[in-house]
Amino acid sequence: MNQPATPALPVRIQQLSKHFGSLRAVEDVSFDIRAGEFLTLLGPSGSGKTTLLMMIAGFSRPTRGSIRIADQEIVHLPPHKRNIGMVFQNYALFPHMSVGENIAYPLRLRKRGRAEIEERVRHVLDLVQLGGYQDRKVSQLSGGQRQRIALARAIVFEPRILLMDEPLSALDKQLRETMQIEIRKLHDRLGMTTISVTHDQREALTMSDRIAVFSHGRLAQIASPTDLYEKPANRFIAAFIGESAFLPLTATDHGLAYAGRPIETADGPRPAAGKALLMLRPERLKIAEADPAGLPEGGNAFPGQVVTVVFQGDSLLFEVRLDGGDTVFARLPNRAEDLRRLPQAGARVTLSLDRADARIVQAED
Ligand code: ATP
Repeated sequence: MNQPATPALPVRIQQLSKHFGSLRAVEDVSFDIRAGEFLTLLGPSGSGKTTLLMMIAGFSRPTRGSIRIADQEIVHLPPHKRNIGMVFQNYALFPHMSVGENIAYPLRLRKRGRAEIEERVRHVLDLVQLGGYQDRKVSQLSGGQRQRIALARAIVFEPRILLMDEPLSALDKQLRETMQIEIRKLHDRLGMTTISVTHDQREALTMSDRIAVFSHGRLAQIASPTDLYEKPANRFIAAFIGESAFLPLTATDHGLAYAGRPIETADGPRPAAGKALLMLRPERLKIAEADPAGLPEGGNAFPGQVVTVVFQGDSLLFEVRLDGGDTVFARLPNRAEDLRRLPQAGARVTLSLDRADARIVQAED
């Protein structure tokens, strides 16, 4: 199974919609998933992610639009004819069956021979690091082990596509983070085209080749984790991926400004003034005690006062009230020797931002 019998296949979603009465759960969504790609559908609750995944799986019929695997239209095929593996949020394992019987189930449905079934079950249990667990009862397994068994059952028949609906949401934080990396490694070994749904942005950033962000049933942006983080298309995405504050900018004769001070950016075209916001990521801001001689003349300097300093173990979070009236956060890595020399609550400070880190985003309409 390290060399999949079926090569990875691309998926093409075109003008796909799903309406429930007047509710547009998914509206006119089009995008391509590359062969072998790990794509995550990300968005807030109710944004249409699960509905989209269920249409790909075949459990929900689109109102209109097309879903193709390679060049084959699958919209009219029932789920079992799509050759898609699926991991559900609650795992949907059969509690009365052993681990081995659960994993063998899709192979039995496909009428595979006994020797092949035994061999594949053994192999896939090794892949999910539960070798030797065939005879255990599902009820005797921990949450993390159940998750692995659900994954094993989804991939045992070498499906063309693997779908996962919030696969890790039932696990605690630490196990979730370990499993994110394990599933990603398994994906890389098997090379299977994978589509996963989550509302956890960190999980999406950790696991995906690309992330498709949804808002109100529509595709808001599809991009690699780094592009999404560095170049979010608008304020909604910037706020949803990572932490950020937004400063309202005004247009002056010399360009954009915040509180009368110039903003310098490295990137190209800017949205119309009045709608422009400066996105500030806490880890990109620099913080220095205000120079008594006055502020530097250059751009991207924000005078203000420290409200609180929060110790977070690996970092320190400074809440700063800017003279322009907005509150922003700056994060510094914790380098123990610096602690006492850093500004304290009440201190006058200047925050600054490299030109390369100054990103303008559009306010939503
Ligand atoms: P969550 O993260 O909470 O699961 P989601 O992004 O997966 O959210 P969906 O479950 O796809 O969102 O739901 C999208 C919208 O469609 C929601 O407003 C939901 O209430 C509605 N919806 C989903 N399924 C049905 C249904 N069978 N009948 C009516 N409305 C539905």
